[in-house]
Amino acid sequence: MSTPTPRKIAFIGAGNMTQSIVGGMVKSGYPADHIFVSNPSDAKLNTLKERHQLHVSNDNAEIAQQAEVIVLAVKPQLMADVCADLSRRVPNLDSKLIVSIAAGIRIPKYRQYLNENITMIRVMPNTPSLVGEGVSGLVADDRASAADKAFIEFAFDGVGQTLWVADEDELDILGAVAGSGPAYFFEFMASLQKAAVALGFDHEKARAMVQQTALGAATMAIDSDLELEDLRKQVTSKGGSTAKGIEVYQAADIDDISEQAVRAAVARNQEMA
Ligand code: NAP
Repeated sequence: MSTPTPRKIAFIGAGNMTQSIVGGMVKSGYPADHIFVSNPSDAKLNTLKERHQLHVSNDNAEIAQQAEVIVLAVKPQLMADVCADLSRRVPNLDSKLIVSIAAGIRIPKYRQYLNENITMIRVMPNTPSLVGEGVSGLVADDRASAADKAFIEFAFDGVGQTLWVADEDELDILGAVAGSGPAYFFEFMASLQKAAVALGFDHEKARAMVQQTALGAATMAIDSDLELEDLRKQVTSKGGSTAKGIEVYQAADIDDISEQAVRAAVARNQEMA
């Protein structure tokens, strides 16, 4: 995607996600002098300033006042207090685009916290965004314009793939698949590693073997037009050793296990909302 018309964008919180998103934006050609970041302590701000020559502050409201887009990037448990401070001290919040990357807090809550008339986009990035291979789910309220959406899509394209969803319920499902998904894959990879070790393989070699296999399989899945089930069949000769292994997973009903896991994670997302 080409660089959109620059807008002044303020990130509230200079944590891991902000550092990755800002890094991705600058790498994609976004002018750093349009980026503002605030954080209570200085160390992360100093690093960001040295790396990208952007604007930093210890005062959230000071940078939010100057910005056209405000990205709320603090932990969910701090969100109410951070928003209360912004709503007291930043005039015209309803003329700015508000973006939140916090899990579990829905758009109506931000209207209560900030202003009934805000324009808002919620983004649910996942942890691989920290290495530029994320999936970010996005949902916009009906006040967000096509230009607002394109701008935020650009910002998150820098840390992986972006995926618009229809509503906040769908964002919960995305959170349960893509947000929690890395943990599911790690769990499965760890179990394969343990199996190799149980059969006598060296721990480090087992890890290297499993991680490269995961990367290879993911790359093949991305490069291929085949359905995942057909790719699986392609590497499973009838009566062969892979078929024997797959039979064990299918006997345990791996599809049902995954569906139960996703349903449990969605339910928890909704409980926390
Ligand atoms: P993080 O690394 O803990 O960053 C949060 C930052 O907020 C810290 O730098 C913290 O500063 C700062 N902060 C604390 N109080 C503040 C305040 N009053 N005003 C401004 N900044 C304040 O967290 P993160 O991983 O970047 O996550 C940020 C948000 O993204 C969270 O809501 C998280 O749920 C969401 N998210 C994260 C991931 C992920 O994989 N990391 C994935 C999806 C969504 P100090 O360290 O100095 O206290």
